[in-house]
Amino acid sequence: MARTDVIVLGAGIVGTSVALHLVKRGLSVALVDRGGAGEATSYGNAGIIEGNTIFPAAFPSDWATLLRIAFKRSPLANYHLAFLPKIAPWLAAFRAYSQPTKLVETSQVMRPLFARAVAEHEVLAAEAAAEKYLRRNGWLKLYRSDRAFAGVKRELDLAASLGIANVTMDVEAARALEPSLNPVFRHAVHWTGAVSVSNPLAVTRAYIARFAALGGLSFTGDARSLHRNGPNWRVETASGPLDAGEVVIALGPWLRDVLDPLGVRLPLAVKRGYHRHFRPQGNAALARPVLDADNGYVLAPMEQGVRITSGVEFAPRDAPPTPVQLERLMPAARELFPLGEPVEPQPWFGARPCFADSRPVIGRAPGNAGLWLACGHAHWGLTLGPATGRLLAELMTGATPFCDPQPYAAERFIR
Ligand SMILES: Cc1cc2nc3c(=O)[nH]c(=O)nc-3n(C[C@H](O)[C@H](O)[C@H](O)COP(=O)(O)OP(=O)(O)OC[C@H]3O[C@@H](n4cnc5c(N)ncnc54)[C@H](O)[C@@H]3O)c2cc1C
Repeated sequence: MARTDVIVLGAGIVGTSVALHLVKRGLSVALVDRGGAGEATSYGNAGIIEGNTIFPAAFPSDWATLLRIAFKRSPLANYHLAFLPKIAPWLAAFRAYSQPTKLVETSQVMRPLFARAVAEHEVLAAEAAAEKYLRRNGWLKLYRSDRAFAGVKRELDLAASLGIANVTMDVEAARALEPSLNPVFRHAVHWTGAVSVSNPLAVTRAYIARFAALGGLSFTGDARSLHRNGPNWRVETASGPLDAGEVVIALGPWLRDVLDPLGVRLPLAVKRGYHRHFRPQGNAALARPVLDADNGYVLAPMEQGVRITSGVEFAPRDAPPTPVQLERLMPAARELFPLGEPVEPQPWFGARPCFADSRPVIGRAPGNAGLWLACGHAHWGLTLGPATGRLLAELMTGATPFCDPQPYAAERFIR
């Protein structure tokens, strides 16, 4: 039996960042995953470190969009019909949190985390020699209709009041930044402070390498073996049982596999998503990620090719993939950018771990001494991993947290 100060369960970008922050503070830390670090949800994202995020993704408020989704015509969202009754309570809560006043409230409570997002990555990337994966040239959101552009006015006003940098552009200015884009859009906003990465998996692996260099240990094991062993927690690993007084659960969409049996019921749901890489035609290239707002997909330049990431899908986490959204959006994507052949035979798919209030849970697991949570990062796990790691490490070591952790506490669901 081996003993360590802390066991971190889950080596996605969130668990890895937590483990790295803990080991930097002098604790002995074991990071346990059943697969390769960073190879699950954290592999497949659009690579955007969105410190500029103001409003979270919201339930559609206009009937036209809802009807297109209902009739499975929209690339913004898809659903498995038989799953709707099961997800209905969560969707109702998500809809309630999507009311304009609630969105403003969420943007306020999330701002301290987003405000640190880029800076905390910069620190870890510099220490981990991962700066070569960072592009500090923002990201571009495109709007094909005046109506879609009018919809972001509130966000731009709020950005101005918060001092979040952006530049509103016409087609010509946007194409000066990204000459390969075809002029099928009417407006663009360049969020200049955002950073993006050319390989999310490589970033997580670099952070793991830094963790190892500082003495952190990685193990293969199944988090579902977590149980109490006297005053400690124990996890079974391929190298034998591992004990620690403190455990962090950072299992992304698999959180409930471990928490439910412990009697800690958190209302986590998943928004599934897809991506596929394409070779650009000829010399076409992108310098930064580009959102086609009307169609809800991102074109993200990656080492593997141009990665197209889809909108959300409501379906059981483990149901076979149904990448119909990619099929729906491909005509729009090909119209916008000269895409060549797909790189892989099949799209990748994963599941964003989401709470209906669009906030993560960072802090103690109620009723379980020594159990900590870092989960539910939804559309922003890459963005918020390092800021989460710092906040949780500060809470666990009794340091002054860099922001008020109360809005992210699990107690908002469990009393
Ligand atoms: C299409 C798409 C695009 C996205 N774009 C962005 C973006 O541009 N920017 C951004 O910030 N975010 C983005 N996201 C969200 C982001 O990818 C996630 O929020 C983030 O990856 C979640 O990280 P995590 O560490 O919590 O989970 P994961 O990366 O899923 O890590 C959880 C780990 O737990 C392990 N695990 C699970 N069960 C067990 C078990 N029983 N035993 C042991 N180990 C276990 C898994 O193997 C995995 O390694 C996107 C997501 C998707 C799907």
